[in-house]
Amino acid sequence: MEVKKLLNSVDTCVDEALCGTVRSHGGLALLRGHRVALRSDLGNLKGKVALLSGGGSGHEPAHAGYIGLGMLSGVVAGGVFASPPPGSILAAIMSLWHAGASGVLLVVKNYTGDRLNFGLAAEQARAQGVPVNMVIVADDCAFNQPTKAGRRGLCGTVFVHKLAGALAEEGLPLDTIVSRMDEVKKAIGTLGVSLSPCCVPGCKPSFQLPPGEMELGLGIHGEPGIKRSKVATADEVVKTMIDHMTDSNNQSHLPMKSGDSVVLCVNNLGALSCLEMAVVTKSAINCLEDRGIVVARVMSGSFMTSLEMAGMSLSIMKTDKDILRLFDAKTSAPAWPNLSVESVSGRKWSVDPPPQTESREVKYASGPLSGVMKKVLEGVCESLLQRQEELNMLDRAAGDGDCGNTHASAAKAIQEWLQSHEVPGCPGQLLTILATLVQKRMGGSSGALYSLFLAAAVLPLMGQSDGAAWAKAVHAGTEAMKRYGGAEPGDRTMLDALCPAVEELQKLLSSPPGGYMGILQAAVERAEAGADSTRSMSAKAGRASYVATQHQTEPDPGAVAVAAILRAAFKALG
Ligand code: ADP
Ligand code: MG
Repeated sequence: MEVKKLLNSVDTCVDEALCGTVRSHGGLALLRGHRVALRSDLGNLKGKVALLSGGGSGHEPAHAGYIGLGMLSGVVAGGVFASPPPGSILAAIMSLWHAGASGVLLVVKNYTGDRLNFGLAAEQARAQGVPVNMVIVADDCAFNQPTKAGRRGLCGTVFVHKLAGALAEEGLPLDTIVSRMDEVKKAIGTLGVSLSPCCVPGCKPSFQLPPGEMELGLGIHGEPGIKRSKVATADEVVKTMIDHMTDSNNQSHLPMKSGDSVVLCVNNLGALSCLEMAVVTKSAINCLEDRGIVVARVMSGSFMTSLEMAGMSLSIMKTDKDILRLFDAKTSAPAWPNLSVESVSGRKWSVDPPPQTESREVKYASGPLSGVMKKVLEGVCESLLQRQEELNMLDRAAGDGDCGNTHASAAKAIQEWLQSHEVPGCPGQLLTILATLVQKRMGGSSGALYSLFLAAAVLPLMGQSDGAAWAKAVHAGTEAMKRYGGAEPGDRTMLDALCPAVEELQKLLSSPPGGYMGILQAAVERAEAGADSTRSMSAKAGRASYVATQHQTEPDPGAVAVAAILRAAFKALG
């Protein structure tokens, strides 16, 4: 099957990608006629060692993303997964030399092609009198017995870019940087795992992985790894990887012991989601800390990818104070993460929530209204429980069929509460309690909406309980529901029952001639008519708005529930 890619053409994708990187970062410039990107401020290299790296494309943001002050001075890009031609490498070296660099250090990953092409260019540059030296990075921990070709160069190379770049910026001479890097290299190890192959543009996938399987120890060009197995959990995979990387029976292992301090790089090989990456990062930090390793810094993200391979690699570099200083040194390279200089291990990484103020719940007294409010609540709960199935059925038509259940959960929570508590005499206090109960126990959109309604209705009913206070309270509640829920009457929601009723209840603001019960009755009737009117409406809010609305003939469940609540309250008051 053809793998979809968003490109203009297979032939131009490498040049276009390099161009895109350079165009988007002011610190980079292209060397005309070559697939070479250089620092755009070459003048700042005067008297300092310049750093040149590169290799096949398809590993973005490597390598151009590491160009900047304190990291690389330039990179040479080959075709996808192909080593760059020596002519371009030489052109890059000569550009750096002509800019006034005191020498050029080539940072090369251990692949035969790269060794040959960078080696050839280095010899040619030396012949022209340029001081050139080479560091070959071979950080792969996969193979118990590496072949003659040696360990492959992987994401650990980025550490070398960073440390060598910092030393060059400090003004150290070429030979010193080389000998320091030869030491640093021994303290770096990398191992990858993949859940999928990747596809070079215009080609078939680099290999096949059966469904449900993963491969450990692949190279970044899709070269085979060491072991296939069933996909395991992030914790298990990370543990397997770190076990293997540090196993002394493995000739390419990284020796590590409790008390060592490390920098960890969790590298996305291309297609892991950011969520997976964050999970893996947590696993890796925990796994190292469980072994007594001090994790000094963590970089997590895409640093040395393999096109769209769904996998990741772990690179570990043992550190000391000096290495950390170089690691933390400032760089303007666009792909270098903006890390904190605080140690990851040992940092206080959680804070306590403020003390709960639920003591408010205890401090209330019952009053003359307690009895009648209790009766109303009991009536409402009973009615909602009776109508559970009907509301579920209405919600099944356009929602997810749980509207009766959400209302029943609220009813049961209130019933339970009533059994063990006295109803406060202050209606505002009761509404505060109900808002919390509903928020915790009702669920669904209705839970949040009712909780909002109740919370917003509290203030007018603190210390007041006359008709005008109730009118203000239900108005405030409805307004909050509209504001946060984003719906209006006519959108086929509970508002279609609530709003007409609340409008009627505003008559309580002035002393009504016909008495409160007359207004209440009219409000209930308007809610019922409003609920019924939703039969012919199409849903514009809530879950139901995502469902195709052919022949909706039943009313909205939320609106029916509102009418039922009001009817039950009215009955209890009568
Ligand atoms: P969920 O939709 O999460 O499953 P419920 O089934 O408990 O929640 O409640 C669905 C009811 O919520 C709908 O019938 C509708 O009356 C109401 N509703 C949904 N969204 C809104 C909104 N934005 N404003 C007012 N009411 C809404
Ligand atoms: Mg629902």
